[in-house]
Amino acid sequence: MNRPTFETQTPAPDAAGEACYVPRETAAAAPSGDDRKPILQPAPPNELPGEGYRKGQIASWLYKKGAREWEEMTDLPRRLREALAQEWRIGEFALVQAFPSTDGSVKYLFTLHDGQRTEAVYLPYKDRKTVCISSQVGCPAGCVFCATGRMGFGRNLTGPEILDQILAVAYHQGLAPREIRNVVLMGMGEPLLNYENVVWAVRCMLSKNALAMSPRRVTLSTVGIPRGIRRLAEDDLGVKLALSLHAPDDETRRQIIPTAHSHSIAEIMAAVRAYFERTRRRVTIEYTMLRNVNDRPEQARELARILKGLVAHVNLIPFNPWEGAPVAGSGKKRIQTFARELEKAGLPVSIRWSRGVDVGAACGQLALKES
Ligand code: SAH
Ligand code: SF4
Repeated sequence: MNRPTFETQTPAPDAAGEACYVPRETAAAAPSGDDRKPILQPAPPNELPGEGYRKGQIASWLYKKGAREWEEMTDLPRRLREALAQEWRIGEFALVQAFPSTDGSVKYLFTLHDGQRTEAVYLPYKDRKTVCISSQVGCPAGCVFCATGRMGFGRNLTGPEILDQILAVAYHQGLAPREIRNVVLMGMGEPLLNYENVVWAVRCMLSKNALAMSPRRVTLSTVGIPRGIRRLAEDDLGVKLALSLHAPDDETRRQIIPTAHSHSIAEIMAAVRAYFERTRRRVTIEYTMLRNVNDRPEQARELARILKGLVAHVNLIPFNPWEGAPVAGSGKKRIQTFARELEKAGLPVSIRWSRGVDVGAACGQLALKES
């Protein structure tokens, strides 16, 4: 039986761009072809195998203490640990590589058991530790400014693969899983095109038996799939919604987002308004600033007009460049003028100056570079 192995040394903080955390198995040896069942299985976490209170013990090892090996669970009888290890695997990754950035963020590249790859980013802010996770390998949406979109679609991540990104990042950062207080689904993939698995993972994040996170600290970012947004409202998980709008009119949006041909802004905004009505959570509008595409002051005024009456916050994102990108980012001045126009119209605005640029922290950049 092949088992994923890990080295426990911490990454050198100054090795920007270098894979400095590499498990003992080499990239060539991965994937491990581990065909045991994931212990983080698509069932309520209290359905873990084992008798009665053993389930609680296992859950506590996984979600409170962050165990990554069955042998670590020293209060389980040795025979039980051995039996469990035969049948169940704890980790979903055959290989974990960390790419620390000079700004403190760390990008993780995960090789899954079938050899596909996905990414997450650890973002240690002063008062909170955040992990940005992926929902798919690649993405079918194909937005022109996005490195993941360029890569095309690999496959949906399973629920355990989505969840385990948080556990694996916590482990490699030397943190207990519950020390990660914020999760953003802003990595590779479109979460609402992998609805069941994403919602399964989110339920584990929120479950008192698992990560016990507050729903207001989980943000799901979507390119705008109206049916998925409405379903998320009905499922009433209470998570924060971020909409990647990027343009105030359908014509501009269709130039950069292929899915905009299927869903108009009016349709998407109706679903977003319904989400707000149900959850009463302020919605974030994401807007990546692209030179001469969506960055004119009159486009800011048009954006303010379509957002009228919605309790929203606009996040302007400077374009994070990647090799071969067919678009360029707006300059700083242009972004600031755009922000001022929105503020004049009474909209709360922030500019998200990028982190991890030196390690390709824009979603998909690392997997694209390494493939
Ligand atoms: N598929 C989802 C979530 C992942 S992308 C979505 O599109 O919302 C997370 C955010 O990063 C989106 O707002 C996306 O438009 C933005 N993004 C992608 N590539 C970028 C780049 N190179 N520079 C700046 N923002 C980018
Ligand atoms: Fe997919 Fe989001 Fe990238 Fe568009 S921006 S290709 S939806 S990951």
